[in-house]
Amino acid sequence: MTRKSHAIAERMRLLDASGIRKVFDLAAKMKDPINLSIGQPDFDVPEPIKEAAIQAIRDGLNKYTQTQGTEALRAVLARQCREEFGWNDDRPYLVTSGVSGALMLAILTTVNPGDEVILTDPYFVMYAHLVNLAGGTPVGVSTYDDFRPDVQKIADAVTDRTRLLIINSPANPTGAVYSRQELKDIAEMAAQRDLLVVSDEIYNLFCYDEPFVSMAGLYENTLLMRGFSKSYAVTGWRMGWCTGPKAIIEKMTMLQQYSFVCAPSMAQAASIVALRTDMSAEVAAYKKKRDRVYSVLGPAMGLVKPGGAFYAFCPAPGGNATDFVAKAIANNVLVIPGNVFSTRDTHFRISYATSDDKLARGLEILAKLA
Ligand code: PMP
Repeated sequence: MTRKSHAIAERMRLLDASGIRKVFDLAAKMKDPINLSIGQPDFDVPEPIKEAAIQAIRDGLNKYTQTQGTEALRAVLARQCREEFGWNDDRPYLVTSGVSGALMLAILTTVNPGDEVILTDPYFVMYAHLVNLAGGTPVGVSTYDDFRPDVQKIADAVTDRTRLLIINSPANPTGAVYSRQELKDIAEMAAQRDLLVVSDEIYNLFCYDEPFVSMAGLYENTLLMRGFSKSYAVTGWRMGWCTGPKAIIEKMTMLQQYSFVCAPSMAQAASIVALRTDMSAEVAAYKKKRDRVYSVLGPAMGLVKPGGAFYAFCPAPGGNATDFVAKAIANNVLVIPGNVFSTRDTHFRISYATSDDKLARGLEILAKLA
């Protein structure tokens, strides 16, 4: 009997974690796996950032902060954006509980039931789930097989119900980095249609071949989101931030007041130190890992060279990613099938955020299986 008191709201039907759960169920049976599935850095948090968080706790920064984030942190964000974008306005900044928090607030603030949200497919899976939760419809625009955004295809997907376009460069799961020209073309197309663009730039530091270009510098109607999780290896701190059109940020701030309340206080204090910490050695090490992945899987398996983040999205030998991932797991290597991130199941995702030794062993096994 289903009990009324245990009934689940309709909207929860739209969430589905079965793809990734299958992988983790298989993984649970593995002894000391070579884990190439984790979406977080393997380097440690730089000491001064840790110290700043500890000191903040000792200094009594353990209470609610202002909903929009501490004045001190927002001032640093504003200064850095002034340097990067030349903004001299009094635009609002909202410190969020991770980029996840910013995404949740932005989507609930802007998407009505029945609205459409355009995503490039493959996409970071949370986008689709949050859009569904808001009663909207995620509309995927394929970027296979080279993972470049095709502005014409995106334009063709726009309808009267389109509310948002979500851009993610450097991208999860493909590692694609959009060029200035690609972003300009998207900006022009979005301007003609008066679209709001969410630019998820959580991997902005991890950009290996070209300098990073932000959508926010090219298109005014952008909700810019950045995070601390990946850049400083503090995924558990739940720190992100967002800026964009004032009316939208104000409503997102109000929603934060009634949901997350504020981002963690000690993490906000330490994030100020993070923002002045040089991470170039860590990024250089990840570039080397990227090169290693490409040298083994690139020509041999048809992997498109990823320009950023710490992922590679590789065609599955045999064409069926779920089958190939099962084989990889049977050989002690944990990777994620493409259908977790896509309507297609033809590729698998490697995260190379792991030790050089584990990466080398994992790649060797994957290449052998192929
Ligand atoms: N966006 C992308 C593209 C991600 O890969 C992730 C983390 N996997 C997030 C947002 C969320 O990160 P966080 O909430 O830790 O800032």
